Amino acid sequence: MTAIAAPAAPNTTLTAADRCDRCGAQAFVRVVLASGDLLFCGHHARNYEEGLRAQALEWVDETATLNS
Ligand SMILES: [Zn+2]
Repeated sequence: MTAIAAPAAPNTTLTAADRCDRCGAQAFVRVVLASGDLLFCGHHARNYEEGLRAQALEWVDETATLNS
């Protein structure tokens, strides 16, 4: 198990300008990896969650805002 320094986490609320890296839809999930951030729509976040969760330093899921 590698110790990973907690990344500086500004309150990064996703906006309509943030787009899914896979399909270009509005992003609702930000995945922070050691190599950088990925943004996903709800659909692709679920698609990649199983594989990425283990590597993610941070998993910011704002899909709840879909319903508001
Ligand atoms: Zn997508």
